[in-house]
Amino acid sequence: MTMVLVLNSGSSSVKFAVFDVLQGATGAISPLCTGNASRLNEPGAGEFRLEWQGQKEQLDLPRNDHEGAIDTILSRVRQLGLLQQVAVVGHRVVHGGDRYRAPTRVDDKVLADIESFSAFAPLHNPPNLIGIRVCQQRLPAIPQVAVFDTAFHGTLPPVAYHYAIPQQWQQDWGVRRYGFHGISHHYIASQLPLLMPAPADGIRAVSAHLGNGCSLCAIKNGISVDTSMGFTPLEGLMMGSRSGDLDPGLHEYLCEKLQTDIHGLTTLLNKDAGLKGVSGLSNDMRTCLQAADAGNPHAQLAVELFCYRLAKHIAACIVPLGRIDALVFTGGIGENAAPIRARVIALLAGLGFRLDTTLNEQRADHARNVATTSSPAIWIIPTQEEGMIARQSLALLNEEGCHS
Ligand code: AMP
Repeated sequence: MTMVLVLNSGSSSVKFAVFDVLQGATGAISPLCTGNASRLNEPGAGEFRLEWQGQKEQLDLPRNDHEGAIDTILSRVRQLGLLQQVAVVGHRVVHGGDRYRAPTRVDDKVLADIESFSAFAPLHNPPNLIGIRVCQQRLPAIPQVAVFDTAFHGTLPPVAYHYAIPQQWQQDWGVRRYGFHGISHHYIASQLPLLMPAPADGIRAVSAHLGNGCSLCAIKNGISVDTSMGFTPLEGLMMGSRSGDLDPGLHEYLCEKLQTDIHGLTTLLNKDAGLKGVSGLSNDMRTCLQAADAGNPHAQLAVELFCYRLAKHIAACIVPLGRIDALVFTGGIGENAAPIRARVIALLAGLGFRLDTTLNEQRADHARNVATTSSPAIWIIPTQEEGMIARQSLALLNEEGCHS
């Protein structure tokens, strides 16, 4: 059996995919079946969607909590004859603290640790845990593997992960930069050597994961040496609804003006800022780009700010990397928004980046370099977080020799 079920159990949705993983293969892999259960724990019925062999189905969930969603997923995957061939379930877990630097087989100790990291990721780790526990109960004979979003950043040097704060705060309370989107950045790091020749001292690249959440990773010879997200995913780039970096001195002033406490302000900075806050329209880049094209000045500012801040952060990666051989765009915006790539590259002309505008406009679902020959590489690589989780989960199982 080489099939892997991948579960990404988030706060209001559970995404899933089934892969038949060819052992030892390293390129992109396609899932046999994908889908999601969404609108969980909201008033009204939850939605279940599944795609298999080109067919799409959609139905209301009989129960719209996480447990009900996972029961529906397992039951449909079983009816398709796939669950019977699954050797391992791979779970995306957002926060692994500074303890988990690799995919890990779940046992009671691992579960307790993930629970203890919930204080760092209160929106993410608790639903991740429910996903694991329900699968353990329903599929007791199948190993469960946790793949952590923070793990790839376990190689950050101290100078990249420390904050300029009293060090006691780090020692006593774990206050440091952890970084996120590690599964996606790791996938990008794994693909680059397959796509381009490596200099003697290894490829130095910046991976820009630009989805609803956005982060950069400075990758030196396959490992993460810096990243833009920090203790939480709020740090760094401007995102769909997150502010990214801002003056911490603002918090007290804003709490007073908004008549809210720090919890309320943090929620607003996560959910009502970024593209959504500046445009006053939407957290969705497509909507912002359309409105900007139609002349909406708020949407124009939102797009401009997004690109300017992104370009500044990319340029800053020259410090950990020394030089940049490749810039990679991935995630919904990175893969699809040609005008965003064009603006960012224009802002990075000082670093020698030049875009082939014709290639940039062409749509494709495979990795491609859209730079001119005189420029460092500019890759568009469709990310494969679920495929990466599948591959790593099965690899761990094989390493441990517990593959049934
Ligand atoms: P993700 O979180 O990776 O699914 O990415 C979601 C983001 O990608 C949203 O802001 C979408 O508007 C954006 N996106 C997806 N397709 C396009 C497109 N064709 N043009 C611009 N933005 C896009």
